[in-house]
Amino acid sequence: MAEVRTRFAPSPTGYLHLGSARTALFNWAYARRHGGRLVLRIEDTDRERSTQESEDVLIRGLDWLGIVADEGPFRQSERRDLHDAAIERLLRSGHAYRCRCSVDELAERREATLSAGNSWVYDGRCRDLELGPDCGPHTVRLRLDPEEQLSWNDLVFGHSGQVAAEIGDLNIRRSDGHPLYNLAVVVDDLDMQISHVIRGADHLGNTSFQIALYRALGRMPPLFAHLPLIVGPGGKKLSKRRDPVSVEQYREDGYLPRALCNWLMRIGWSHGDQEIFSADEFCNLFELDAVNRSSAQADRDKLDWLNQEYIRELPEAELLDALEPFLAQAVGHPVKRTPELGRLVELLRDRSKTLKEMAEKARFLVAEQIPYEEKAAKKFLKQPSLPILTALHDKLAGLEDWNEAMLEAVFEAVRADQGDIGMGKLAQPIRVAITGTSASPGIYQTLAILGQPRSLDRIAAAIHFVRRG
Ligand code: GLU
Repeated sequence: MAEVRTRFAPSPTGYLHLGSARTALFNWAYARRHGGRLVLRIEDTDRERSTQESEDVLIRGLDWLGIVADEGPFRQSERRDLHDAAIERLLRSGHAYRCRCSVDELAERREATLSAGNSWVYDGRCRDLELGPDCGPHTVRLRLDPEEQLSWNDLVFGHSGQVAAEIGDLNIRRSDGHPLYNLAVVVDDLDMQISHVIRGADHLGNTSFQIALYRALGRMPPLFAHLPLIVGPGGKKLSKRRDPVSVEQYREDGYLPRALCNWLMRIGWSHGDQEIFSADEFCNLFELDAVNRSSAQADRDKLDWLNQEYIRELPEAELLDALEPFLAQAVGHPVKRTPELGRLVELLRDRSKTLKEMAEKARFLVAEQIPYEEKAAKKFLKQPSLPILTALHDKLAGLEDWNEAMLEAVFEAVRADQGDIGMGKLAQPIRVAITGTSASPGIYQTLAILGQPRSLDRIAAAIHFVRRG
């Protein structure tokens, strides 16, 4: 069999969509699996939307996910000569013809056809007029044989296609001379010797016409595999408001690239009931016939679970690297990497679904000032806590060895002095005093990590706070 060549062909629209990222991942894996190559082609022919910035966003997103193309990036806009030449060839061979029908005329005829209850395809008015290049403003259409079956055996959806009469003679060049999308894609896929077109099921409707173009150009079409669209919970369309759709957003929300990739792998593809796959493992296992035909649900809870699994497993130095920007953002300045931060991160691994959440939880250690969470302060920093806070402060100030065992002994002694009250009565006010929140790892561990001087300062500040009322 000839070499496997896949391609990822995003339109730069300002962000890397979750569905596109999955398309890229599947193309990459398929090429890897078969010792082939992945080509990256930026489909930037829509000049208004295609800025350098949106191209950068795409490339950054792919890099972050670890999806590396073997060739490219190529820009479709720089391949215009090839597209123009193909259109000229089709005109010369009679597979295409010039059409003078204006947009208004077409709209009128279409309206009339629809209101008579018929479906509209181009009615072929200019099809046999043999118009030359000087016929005035015109588009170029592909001449289809209405009887022809434009079908293919989709590697995911199985036998698919339409009879040409259902499509009609579509335009391949606009009246301003611009080649249209289907033409450019086919010419590029041919020129790049793409063997497998793996793309979203939203393109199913284009494929019949593209097959007609391959035939008109006298070439064999590649194989096609369409991936089911990603939907939200309950099978609903993804909504930008409810479910983030850009890879960038997931990154900002504190997901690890490996977790996001793993999540994407499992949206519409499965291998038994295995959930966790390394990139290598996925590439070794990935086959298109295991891609599901029905729309694929994106389950956020599963992403959270995966992210936590990956956070648990990440070596400490890598975890700190990944956490650093989130910490810096949480405190508003760059953060020094200390052994204490390393210890805290080890404690937070099991308690954080995202890096963002972990940074929030680690904030108390790296921030100079800690604001109190309103609810926590109301509940725990009030008059009845005052004797406890004061007693603990005084005893802790006298501690010579600031370690967990000694801290525990102090807490036990104060608890006994205060009439054997529950440990929560001691731990919670201290926790709010030193972290600003009512949740943290164990109180002795937390105090040990924060260190004696800072812990005492914060407890003293909490005592002031309570006194001031
Ligand atoms: N540029 C198209 C898109 O972003 C994809 C074209 C294709 O894969 O054939 O939807």
